[in-house]
Amino acid sequence: MAEIVLEGVTKRFPDGSVAVRDVDLDIADGEFVILVGPSGCGKSTTLNMIAGLEDITDGTLRIDGRVVNDLAPKERDVAMVFQSYALYPHMSVRENMGFPLRLAKVDRATIESKVEEAARVLDLSEYLDRKPANLSGGQRQRVAMGRAIVRDPKAFLMDEPLSNLDAKLRVQMRTQISRLQRRLGTTTVYVTHDQTEAMTLGDRVVVMRQGLVQQVGTPARLYDMPRNLFVAGFIGSPAMNFLGASLSGGALRTPLGDLPLDDRTRQELERRDAPRDVIVGLRPEAFEDASLARGTGGPVVTVTVDVLESLGSDAYVHFGAEGGPVTTAELEELATDSGMRDTGAGGAQQIVARLDAATRA
Ligand code: ATP
Repeated sequence: MAEIVLEGVTKRFPDGSVAVRDVDLDIADGEFVILVGPSGCGKSTTLNMIAGLEDITDGTLRIDGRVVNDLAPKERDVAMVFQSYALYPHMSVRENMGFPLRLAKVDRATIESKVEEAARVLDLSEYLDRKPANLSGGQRQRVAMGRAIVRDPKAFLMDEPLSNLDAKLRVQMRTQISRLQRRLGTTTVYVTHDQTEAMTLGDRVVVMRQGLVQQVGTPARLYDMPRNLFVAGFIGSPAMNFLGASLSGGALRTPLGDLPLDDRTRQELERRDAPRDVIVGLRPEAFEDASLARGTGGPVVTVTVDVLESLGSDAYVHFGAEGGPVTTAELEELATDSGMRDTGAGGAQQIVARLDAATRA
């Protein structure tokens, strides 16, 4: 078992600033948990406290049922993978990967077989005698992972391990990390500010802001049932659109027109005794081109296209609705192609707005 439990964990730095406040988190054995949030929200500090690289000011940290607040990093049996890889330039791949085992005085034959096994898993066998300088970024990253794997630790702790890679390699490595974690079944805590990584890698995602946990849940739960405006706006790309609205009869009056409410949403708002003025969250994919006329029941709004971004199969249409902020809709390329070829950006376009999720103000 390698369960990691944080109870009321707080970090106050000597200058008095509080980077992490009263965090409760229960990470199950074998779980892949992502800490995500904007720069400075306290995710690295949280990871460093689990690793033992930062002291815990208040609260309790348990690994495997044992309180480890005062244990040195090497006594916690966790392996850290950093963004910078932290490889030794004068050592070969083989020596870099075997280094933690050498430190632990493991015998030479065992080191050799563990390094070769990890190299095989990570597709590094042919590079074992190279120095890090003669490897690509992705290969260096894999060596850093290999160094963590050979120790067979209770948990992997990864701090933005992919952020030094180019976009294409990042996607490749993302799938590789996911496959590797499932295969090894090792508890993993992974820090990123990239919400795509968070949504694709994690069994559960912890969204943080200003040292506080905002929501913990599966990626689907965070996307569909964000607990507050911050999570709603942070998860999803392009971001959810927020529109000021007022409840009027069975509909929500918004700058885009009246959005009909389904029974479930109406009952939910009544149950919560929602105020008349609310904020409506509409995901970009909640819109569709009126010319496709799929009859979703939403109002048809005519908008002036500000910017059109084509992605191949889809396009993002940024438009300004009267009295409202700039809104982004994700439409099928086909629709934007037929509807906008003549007018181009700046032309009037009809869009059906469909209610996706209403978030209470
Ligand atoms: P990033 O994505 O930019 O790495 P983060 O979410 O990982 O951000 P942390 O590095 O955990 O954030 O930092 C959290 C807060 O604590 C920040 O406001 C940071 O300035 C502050 N902080 C970090 N280290 C120290 C320190 N040694 N002394 C004082 N404040 C610190």
